[in-house]
Amino acid sequence: MVEGLERYEAILQGKVRPRYLEAKVSGLLEEKVKEAERILLSCEFCERKCKVNRVAGEKGFCKCDDKARVFGAFAHFGEEPELVPSATIFFAGCTMRCVYCQNAPESVTPALGSYWSEQEIAEWIELMYKRGCKNVNFVGGDPTPYTYNIFKALSYCNAPLPVVWNSNAYYSEKTAKLLQGLVDVYLLDFRYFNDECALKYSSAPNYVQAAKRNFLLATEDAELIVRILVMPSHIECCTKPILRWLAENLGKNVRVNIMDQYWPAFNSHKFPEMNRRLSHEEFASVLDYAKEIGLNNLV
Ligand code: SF4
Repeated sequence: MVEGLERYEAILQGKVRPRYLEAKVSGLLEEKVKEAERILLSCEFCERKCKVNRVAGEKGFCKCDDKARVFGAFAHFGEEPELVPSATIFFAGCTMRCVYCQNAPESVTPALGSYWSEQEIAEWIELMYKRGCKNVNFVGGDPTPYTYNIFKALSYCNAPLPVVWNSNAYYSEKTAKLLQGLVDVYLLDFRYFNDECALKYSSAPNYVQAAKRNFLLATEDAELIVRILVMPSHIECCTKPILRWLAENLGKNVRVNIMDQYWPAFNSHKFPEMNRRLSHEEFASVLDYAKEIGLNNLV
């Protein structure tokens, strides 16, 4: 059993039910669907709070309309070991714009995704459950713009699969509260520890404050796996301070996946400091640092 994911494991063993199924019975899910539908009229699902009416066809930064757009859906075997096989659904569009994005162009242009109705999403989840997947994993781009569609899909679904919210952690406080009580495992990226870097490389104002808040709210609510993509030239300004913050605020047992797979995709060629792979020394120094500060639940 993975430390920190005891409830998730209990769901897999059939000892408890996923929270969204409990929320269906209590009426909480229905309330959350309604609230998410209201947010679509003046969108503030993410920290940008564009306040556009997506039902009327207005588009904000992410360019998502009110329909779910999907560019991939399959049993994923490349996630953390405790999650595989993971029924992973990739939503097109994103609330951040990372210069090194590995999912461009679909993350930048949601119209490249196919329209899936909420019933189709629910049917796919049920199919993936029958095929032996261990969870349903909502990702993108980022799932945040599609919070309403995802909740609505869950309201049509009965598969006893834990819900994994796989996000950049740049969602609004309102969305964080909406997710509470429905998500079983938060799988959140923590990318930057200063707003200058977040703005320059991901066009994400107020990122650090939003990410810290969302990590704290996620920890209060459910189980958590943190993903840290180690980026070249960002070890001292971002990666190490993030690790320190996690150890100090979420405890040394927090589950952390320190990832070395950065590669200079998309627009990273415009930023010489980002236009290379991570060096072995950089990655080794991060692992040493994580151990030095006592993080003891690394993937
Ligand atoms: S999800 Fe974020 S970026 Fe997209 S319209 Fe809503 S507030 Fe704007």
